[in-house]
Amino acid sequence: MEEINVDLHSDTQTRPSPGMREAMAQAPVGDEQRGEDPSVNKLCEMAAELTGKESAVFMPSGTMCNQASVLVHCQPGDEIIADKTSHLINSESGGAAALAGVQIKPINGKRGIFTAEQAEEAVNMRKRNIPRTRMIEIEQTSNAGGGSIWPLERIQEVAEIAKKFGLIMHMDGARMLNAAVASNVTAADFAKSFDSLWVDLSKGLGCPVGAVLCGSSDFIENVWSWKMRLGGAMRQSGIVAAAGVYALENNVSRLADDHTLAKRFADNISNIAGIQLWPVETNLVFFNVKETGLTAKIFHERLLERGVRIGIKDKYEMRAVTHLDVDSAEIAQAADAVAQVAAAA
Ligand SMILES: *Cc1c(COP(=O)(O)O)cnc(C)c1O
Repeated sequence: MEEINVDLHSDTQTRPSPGMREAMAQAPVGDEQRGEDPSVNKLCEMAAELTGKESAVFMPSGTMCNQASVLVHCQPGDEIIADKTSHLINSESGGAAALAGVQIKPINGKRGIFTAEQAEEAVNMRKRNIPRTRMIEIEQTSNAGGGSIWPLERIQEVAEIAKKFGLIMHMDGARMLNAAVASNVTAADFAKSFDSLWVDLSKGLGCPVGAVLCGSSDFIENVWSWKMRLGGAMRQSGIVAAAGVYALENNVSRLADDHTLAKRFADNISNIAGIQLWPVETNLVFFNVKETGLTAKIFHERLLERGVRIGIKDKYEMRAVTHLDVDSAEIAQAADAVAQVAAAA
């Protein structure tokens, strides 16, 4: 494989910084399962405070946060409303069906974001032969929507529908802090309409692993049972939780830098013949390469030959992600590479 100089494949590509590694090395630890790990406890307190929720639990991954939430909130045979592009539907190996026995009604949103009217239309009538609608799930920001932000008002409108029909509101907040920083809305304000939500530590926040799931004390107690059952309860996990503490203290407001670089990258490639950009709201830059005559796969390979890695989203769609391990010189290099590949096509 070619040497990669610029990796825009994903914000999961970050390596723990020296400061983060130092915090991990110094972390006080104990037995997490017994509630005795001070670093894990600190992380959970910080996450609960950040989101304005009663309680929080440290989880090995965002996927486990989604799955445990579905398992706690839903009964087998229930139905969830989620956008058709959601991670819950497309990227969790069918977990909601396999683990919770739940089905999901996909909504045809715009760039991952649906309206209150669409949510209301998707709620099933109560009848013995019709699945019970139980929960509305939204993804902040929408990953497959190109990092699009659910505006606070839209969330509140959807939450009104949830209230009207007695539905649970759950947020996949893998990149919720990107949305908060980009739109100047506090995490707690975004979180307010939700019964449960989680934030990923291993994306833009730069941690090696982990996510924190937040909600009421009752909800978190029930999640703990699933964390045990699924084998997600850990021991001296303060070593990794300390990275999360460090990230919440140091890596949140700097997400704005990732957004600035994403916009700059988009600007730099916007005039290249054959490239069609999606709107850029946060750290994800999607572009279509169809008019260059190349597929995304070939485009990806030709970029790799130039030391630049950019993800393939679809047959003709590419996905570039900025994160704390890329700087402006690398962004310029990546944009040049895109221009070269397009020109040579
Ligand atoms: C990455 C991601 C997840 C899963 O998180 P992991 O920590 O990788 O399990 C879920 N939802 C969205 C939107 C994501 O981007």
